[in-house]
Parts: sequence; structure tokens; C-alpha cells
Amino acid sequence: MDVQEIREIRHAVRQLCGQYGEDYWLDLDRTRGYPSEFVRELTASGFLTVLIPEQYGGAGLGVREAAAVMEEVCRSGAHAGACHAQMYVMGSVLRHGSDAQKTDYLPRIAAGELRLQSFGVTEPTTGTDTTSLKTVARKQGDEYILNGQKVWISRIEHSDLMVLLARTTPKSEVVKKTDGLSAFLIDVDAAKGNGLSIQPIESMINHHSCELFFDDVPIPADNLLGVEGKGFKVILDGMNAERILIAAECVGDGRYFIDKASAYATDRVVFDRPIGQNQGVQFPIARCYAEIEAASLMVEKAADMFDRGEACGAEANMAKMLASEASWKAGDVCMQTHGGFAFAREYHIERKFRETRLYQIAPISTNLILSYIGEHVLKMPRSF
Ligand SMILES: Cc1cc2nc3c(=O)[nH]c(=O)nc-3n(C[C@H](O)[C@H](O)[C@H](O)COP(=O)(O)OP(=O)(O)OC[C@H]3O[C@@H](n4cnc5c(N)ncnc54)[C@H](O)[C@@H]3O)c2cc1C
Repeated sequence: MDVQEIREIRHAVRQLCGQYGEDYWLDLDRTRGYPSEFVRELTASGFLTVLIPEQYGGAGLGVREAAAVMEEVCRSGAHAGACHAQMYVMGSVLRHGSDAQKTDYLPRIAAGELRLQSFGVTEPTTGTDTTSLKTVARKQGDEYILNGQKVWISRIEHSDLMVLLARTTPKSEVVKKTDGLSAFLIDVDAAKGNGLSIQPIESMINHHSCELFFDDVPIPADNLLGVEGKGFKVILDGMNAERILIAAECVGDGRYFIDKASAYATDRVVFDRPIGQNQGVQFPIARCYAEIEAASLMVEKAADMFDRGEACGAEANMAKMLASEASWKAGDVCMQTHGGFAFAREYHIERKFRETRLYQIAPISTNLILSYIGEHVLKMPRSF
């Protein structure tokens, strides 16, 4: 798409989001509610399914366009974490699913009939050390039997399907520790009646994250995604798109904070002059603007490389790191600019401040990105 067409997408997303004011999001945050109407409308308008190819009923656009959608959602004051995964989790099916899986699931996801917005990787005892995860899928006839535990699995209560990573061969029996892991497409409702229990986690933001317990949950062998033992690649291949889109959300959050801070600094009069006339107030906002613009360029670079089919692990990681740090800093400056009013929930800033903090930790933490750059880009010794 050319620049003008992307501008039109942005405009349309802004209009849609404008119908759901910030009070809508504040209310959901207070009640821990789910934005069902918003998600339905975003899906029906085709914005949440932009990455699904046309042959399966999606718009068949690239990550650049998808990033523009997510950025605008966040800039409007919304909490995109409630729905962003519907955009990219389906990539595992698209890239690694069999023809039967693609024709069965993707058109229904594109039509909004099926929600595939849950991703089950993290475990409480192993955390970032993914290849040590302990959830096991044991082959038994034409089924796999799943046992184990996951933590922080978001949107599971609002998802029909989940992509899950489990061990099918013990780590001690594989040469490469990334081997022996397999990815599965889990029918959440079917699993719930068959040994899956879900425990919501009370947390700092309204992200609908849960702890999952699998007790002899049978999974049809047909639900294996890709090749048995090669599931790490299925998950890995989806990560670049996820990181770029989350970086775009952070750019949206950052622009939201800068819009709010600069407007307030211009309006608020203390000592008979707008507080923004003081360089101590104005310069931090200007600096955040520069940092968000720079992060946005890295997001664009990563998205363009992804859409051209080029390896973009470093760029996707750097975009996520730079944008999450810049949005957090912009949030902090926005808080400072608003003084005491920053703490009043009706100003919405404290909610966005909490929400944007997540992205220095999930889906991957900053240290892990730095170690990726150190090892894979700069060729320094592996640190773990
Ligand atoms: C709100 C929320 C939603 C989430 N949603 C999902 C989801 O839907 N699906 C899912 O699978 N996961 C999800 N997660 C999990 C998330 O991906 C992890 O929390 C994140 O990857 C970090 O893992 P951890 O919490 O186990 O931290 P740990 O691995 O315990 O690490 C703790 C800290 O130590 C640092 N650290 C660890 N090892 C090293 C090292 N070798 N060198 C330097 N620093 C190191 C890390 O950078 C981190 O800062 C979510 C988390 C949250 C909070």
C-alpha cells in the first residue's frame, strides 16, 4: 500500500476508536471487563484480520498496515492488549498449518467466528528459559495427552483456540534443546471439559491473563501444528510479527502521552503562565517526541523487512525495545506534566502508564533482547 492508502487506514481506525471514548476503557479497567463490542467492530471492519490472505477471507495486507492499525488503536487511548493477538497468533496456522487446518480455521478467524488470540508458552518455574518448559504432550494412539502448567496466558477466557507449546521428547533425549518441542492448536472449550482448568490472575492491568493447569487433557493428533518436535520454530516464526506490532502499539501509546502532555502543558496556568512555557516542563516532552519518532522509524524498517520476507529478528527486537522504553518514558513525563491530576483516574493517564509498562517485560524482556543483539548481531559470547 502507498502512504496515502495507509493514511486512509489510520483515519478509518481513528474514527472507529473515536466511538469508544476513554471512559469506555476506564470502565473496563475498573470492572476487569472485556471490550467485546469494540473487538467485534474492529473485526467486522476487517482491521483485526488484515494479515490473513485474501484467499482465506482476510485483507491480505502486510505488517506495515497492521502496525498502523495497532498504533492508532493505542493512540486513541484504547488498550490494544485485549485483542492484538487475534492479529498475529493465526500466523502459526498460516505458516505451519496443513492445508486442511488452513482451510478449516483461517476463513472462520477472518469472519470473526473463531477467536484465536491465546498463546501458551510461559510456565511458572521456567519463565524465559523456554526450552526447559515442563508441560508434556505424550502420544497415545491418535491423541496427545497433555499435562503441565502455564502462566500469564492472556485472553484465554475470550479465545476459542490457543496455540500451545509442549515437550514431546524429553530435553535429555534431544541433541539440540530446541528440538523435541511441539506446537498444538487447542480447542479451549473442548479442553475445559477434559482436564484444563483456568485460574485468572489478579494483575496490574486489565489484560485477562490466567494460569492454566492441564491434567491428562486429550488433544487430537490432527491438532499438531507443523512437524512433531519442531514446534519451537512454529513459535519463533510468529515472534517477529508480534514484536513489530507491539512496538507499533508502544509508538501509539507514546504519541498518546505526548499529545496529552503537550496539550496540558499549554493549557495549565500556574504562576500566571502556561506550565509549558517553562523549559523544565517543555523540554522533557520535546525529548520524548524525538525518541518516539526514532522508535517509529525502527518499527517501519522492521515492518518493511518483514513484508519483503527478509530476516528481521534484530530489527523487530530493537523496534520493540526502543518503542517500549520510549513509550514508558513518555508516560512518565506525561505523569510529571500533569502533576497531582495524573493520579486522578478520570484523566486516564495512570491507566495507560500501567498498560505501556508491560512491554518492557512481555512478550520478551529487555535483557533478552540485549542478549540477542549482543550474541547474534555483535557476535559476542553467548551469556546463557
Ligand atoms: C500481563 C502479561 C501478559 C502475558 N501474556 C502472555 C501470554 O499470553 N502468553 C505467554 O506465553 N506468556 C505471556 N506472558 C509472559 C511473559 O512473556 C513473561 O512474563 C516474560 O517473557 C518474562 O518471563 P518471566 O516472567 O518468566 O521472567 P523470568 O524469566 O523469570 O525473568 C525475570 C527477569 O530476569 C531477567 N533475566 C532472566 N534471565 C536472564 C539472563 N540470562 N540474563 C539477563 N537477564 C535475565 C529477565 O529479563 C526478567 O527481567 C505475559 C506476561 C504478563 C505480565
